Amino acid sequence: MPGFEEIARHTRMLRTDSRTCGTVYLIEENGRRLLIDAGDGQAKLDFAPDICILTHGHFDHTRGVKPDWEKVLMHPAEFRFGGPHIEVPKNAEKNPMKEMKFGSHLLEFFHTPGHTDGSICILDRKTGLLFSGDTKFAGGSYGRTDLGGSDEEMERSLALIEKIPYKLLCPGHGELEEKNEA
Ligand SMILES: [Zn+2]
Repeated sequence: MPGFEEIARHTRMLRTDSRTCGTVYLIEENGRRLLIDAGDGQAKLDFAPDICILTHGHFDHTRGVKPDWEKVLMHPAEFRFGGPHIEVPKNAEKNPMKEMKFGSHLLEFFHTPGHTDGSICILDRKTGLLFSGDTKFAGGSYGRTDLGGSDEEMERSLALIEKIPYKLLCPGHGELEEKNEA
């Protein structure tokens, strides 16, 4: 897969030169592919994933979704209000937010509103990776709350993330970051 960089077992990430395009993560095992976010269309994805999970509805994460992708999941709250920059792909369905087995991986979903109402974080219990979308970034920064989000909810969500037993933060933009166990 050109451009993808390995970050953990079965797991790769794709970043583009574009400053706006969100990072795309791919879990691939036994020929099945699960994508976390799809970028804004600038990330070259020459395959249709079996599942695509969106961390939230902003276009820089959703516009890369193709109409023929079979299963595209997004938190139900993201369908309710068409907040600024939110673009819901036509084939997106409501994420049931239940634990999901994918090969030997077990994904757990956390609703972490603040950046948008339907923002989520995804923990891969096998690798300890936390896909945090635009909720939490490396270096202690976090996503904007003025694009349809809320400061109070962001505070609660960041406190929740602190309790998640992850090893490596994999945000929707910028660098990865190991969890600093205080
Ligand atoms: Zn966003």
